[in-house]
Amino acid sequence: MSWGNPAAATATPVAVKCEYPGCDNPAAVYVAIGEDKTKAASCCEHALFENPIVALVEGSTVAVSEAVTKKLVAQHEAAKAVLEAAKNSEMEARLMVGNYAFPLAGRKEGVNNLELSDGRVVKLGHKVNYKLSSDNEAVEKAEDEIDAIGNEGPFLRERIITWEAKFSKSEYNKLDTSNPTHAKVKAAIDKVLEISNGTPSLEVKEPKAKLNNQ
Ligand SMILES: [Zn+2]
Repeated sequence: MSWGNPAAATATPVAVKCEYPGCDNPAAVYVAIGEDKTKAASCCEHALFENPIVALVEGSTVAVSEAVTKKLVAQHEAAKAVLEAAKNSEMEARLMVGNYAFPLAGRKEGVNNLELSDGRVVKLGHKVNYKLSSDNEAVEKAEDEIDAIGNEGPFLRERIITWEAKFSKSEYNKLDTSNPTHAKVKAAIDKVLEISNGTPSLEVKEPKAKLNNQ
């Protein structure tokens, strides 16, 4: 439990060695050791103890073993279960504070304050959701109605209702760049298209149960 050298965790990523006593293998990951969670570089073999893996060694060329991948998957599943349980109890506690200390009838939209005897102030944000109907034709009809009022009608309408451009990836994928019109359309859209990687999702599918006696 006493292996690990905190200085090494911040050292240059080139040729990081496993810090397990007597091991000279290149490190693939960092594990957290002991109560104070000291970060120690570890090879794949020595990453399989109970110490959680906390980071990958940046720039490491060591292939991560399947056993390490399995451990990471298990860590993710455990973290997900803890997160779910914490999310549920946080929501329950929040709703109970809201229901008991801030009865709905007395709440105002926005921040509601309740001062406690020790001087702390509990702030409950009472949120009300507003959104326009997803029926665009109905919204456009309302816009026309407002414009027909005249005077400052259109002025008020364009401040209250604004439109936002949405992107359809499936329609974009249908563009055939061997068609000159499509190619020009794609070039024009690509000028305003911002592409970035989202956070990956992760799920583990259990193997199909094997049939007995076959
Ligand atoms: Zn090692």
